[in-house]
Amino acid sequence: MEEMKLDFTKLVKRVDADKTGDFISYDEGKCNGCGLCTMVCSFNLWSVKEGKARLAPRYQELCLECAACWEICPTEAIDFSYPAGGTGVVIEYG
Ligand code: SF4
Ligand code: SF4
Repeated sequence: MEEMKLDFTKLVKRVDADKTGDFISYDEGKCNGCGLCTMVCSFNLWSVKEGKARLAPRYQELCLECAACWEICPTEAIDFSYPAGGTGVVIEYG
């Protein structure tokens, strides 16, 4: 069976990406360095350095707003809330 690859960048339309504000917050003190956030992020916006997670500084421009990092973090070090209406991403199918 042929492998199907999705190019997320072609599905995502960004609307006023510079007006989203900070919609992900991260508490380094709660991070245990498990790396789960790095595994679930489709856009590779998380990395772990010296035992602590780091979020890409430009995440507002690149994030898919899937909330997977928030969902999977076992220590609640990551908080996520959708950007205000009319900003952020719109996912288009087809
Ligand atoms: S999933 Fe949470 S605890 Fe694990 S590295 Fe990421 S921020 Fe840290
Ligand atoms: S919300 Fe999704 S795309 Fe954005 S940083 Fe978290 S895992 Fe990555």
